[in-house]
Amino acid sequence: MSEFNWCHGPSCHKSHTVDRVRGVKGSKVLRTRKVKYWAGSGFYNYFCSNSCYNEFANTYVEQIIAIAPRTECLETPIEDPKRTKHSNPYHNWYETEIKVDESRQS
Ligand SMILES: [Zn+2]
Repeated sequence: MSEFNWCHGPSCHKSHTVDRVRGVKGSKVLRTRKVKYWAGSGFYNYFCSNSCYNEFANTYVEQIIAIAPRTECLETPIEDPKRTKHSNPYHNWYETEIKVDESRQS
Protein backbone atom coordinates (compact mmCIF):
# COMPACT_ATOMS: atom_id res chain seq x y z
CA MET A 1 0.00 0.00 0.00
CA SER A 2 1.32 3.43 -0.86
CA GLU A 3 1.92 5.89 1.96
CA PHE A 4 -0.37 8.48 0.47
CA ASN A 5 -3.45 8.95 -1.67
CA TRP A 6 -4.15 11.74 -4.06
CA CYS A 7 -6.96 13.87 -2.71
CA HIS A 8 -10.25 12.75 -4.26
CA GLY A 9 -11.74 16.24 -4.26
CA PRO A 10 -12.99 16.86 -7.83
CA SER A 11 -11.59 20.40 -7.85
CA CYS A 12 -8.63 20.04 -5.48
CA HIS A 13 -6.23 20.93 -8.33
CA LYS A 14 -8.12 24.17 -9.03
CA SER A 15 -7.69 25.76 -5.60
CA HIS A 16 -5.26 28.67 -5.65
CA THR A 17 -2.86 27.83 -2.81
CA VAL A 18 0.93 27.96 -2.99
CA ASP A 19 1.35 24.42 -1.65
CA ARG A 20 -0.32 23.10 -4.82
CA VAL A 21 2.08 24.88 -7.19
CA ARG A 22 4.43 22.43 -8.92
CA GLY A 23 6.60 22.35 -12.05
CA VAL A 24 9.43 24.34 -13.53
CA LYS A 25 9.39 28.01 -14.41
CA GLY A 26 7.30 28.63 -17.50
CA SER A 27 5.16 25.50 -17.08
CA LYS A 28 3.80 25.69 -13.55
CA VAL A 29 0.67 23.80 -12.56
CA LEU A 30 -1.72 23.55 -9.62
CA ARG A 31 -1.57 19.88 -8.60
CA THR A 32 -3.95 17.74 -6.56
CA ARG A 33 -2.71 17.50 -2.97
CA LYS A 34 -1.20 14.31 -1.59
CA VAL A 35 -3.00 13.00 1.49
CA LYS A 36 -0.81 11.20 4.00
CA TYR A 37 -2.15 7.78 4.94
CA TRP A 38 -3.17 7.67 8.61
CA ALA A 39 -3.49 4.57 10.76
CA GLY A 40 -7.21 4.97 11.30
CA SER A 41 -9.75 4.56 8.56
CA GLY A 42 -11.96 7.37 7.42
CA PHE A 43 -12.25 10.06 4.84
CA TYR A 44 -9.15 11.94 6.03
CA ASN A 45 -7.14 9.24 4.23
CA TYR A 46 -8.65 10.33 0.92
CA PHE A 47 -9.39 14.04 1.20
CA CYS A 48 -7.12 16.97 2.06
CA SER A 49 -9.92 19.07 3.52
CA ASN A 50 -13.58 19.13 4.45
CA SER A 51 -14.36 21.19 1.35
CA CYS A 52 -12.80 18.54 -0.93
CA TYR A 53 -14.76 15.85 0.92
CA ASN A 54 -17.99 17.85 0.69
CA GLU A 55 -17.52 18.48 -3.02
CA PHE A 56 -16.91 14.77 -3.66
CA ALA A 57 -19.96 13.78 -1.57
CA ASN A 58 -22.20 16.35 -3.29
CA THR A 59 -20.97 15.33 -6.76
CA TYR A 60 -21.37 11.57 -6.21
CA VAL A 61 -24.21 11.46 -3.65
CA GLU A 62 -26.45 9.21 -5.80
CA GLN A 63 -23.71 6.56 -6.16
CA ILE A 64 -22.78 6.82 -2.47
CA ILE A 65 -26.40 6.35 -1.35
CA ALA A 66 -26.75 3.36 -3.69
CA ILE A 67 -24.15 1.52 -1.54
CA ALA A 68 -26.54 1.37 1.45
CA PRO A 69 -29.94 2.84 0.58
CA ARG A 70 -32.29 3.68 3.46
CA THR A 71 -35.77 2.68 2.32
CA GLU A 72 -37.42 2.82 5.73
CA CYS A 73 -36.79 4.60 9.00
CA LEU A 74 -34.86 3.07 11.87
CA GLU A 75 -35.96 3.30 15.50
CA THR A 76 -34.19 3.06 18.86
CA PRO A 77 -36.48 1.91 21.69
CA ILE A 78 -36.38 4.32 24.64
CA GLU A 79 -37.94 4.53 28.06
CA ASP A 80 -40.58 7.23 28.59
CA PRO A 81 -38.58 10.48 28.76
CA LYS A 82 -38.29 11.99 32.25
CA ARG A 83 -38.61 15.78 32.52
CA THR A 84 -36.98 17.27 35.60
CA LYS A 85 -37.22 20.85 36.83
CA HIS A 86 -34.02 22.47 38.09
CA SER A 87 -33.57 25.85 39.67
CA ASN A 88 -31.00 28.16 41.13
CA PRO A 89 -31.42 31.67 42.55
CA TYR A 90 -31.33 33.16 39.04
CA HIS A 91 -33.54 30.99 36.89
CA ASN A 92 -35.34 27.70 36.38
CA TRP A 93 -34.75 25.20 33.63
CA TYR A 94 -35.89 21.79 32.60
CA GLU A 95 -33.90 18.79 31.50
CA THR A 96 -35.37 15.83 29.71
CA GLU A 97 -33.55 12.56 30.18
CA ILE A 98 -33.76 10.10 27.32
CA LYS A 99 -32.54 6.59 28.08
CA VAL A 100 -32.28 3.70 25.65
CA ASP A 101 -34.52 0.79 26.66
CA GLU A 102 -32.01 -2.06 26.60
CA SER A 103 -34.79 -4.63 27.22
CA ARG A 104 -36.34 -3.82 23.83
CA GLN A 105 -33.10 -3.84 21.81
CA SER A 106 -33.18 -6.25 18.93
ZN1 LIG B 1 -8.16 18.27 -1.82
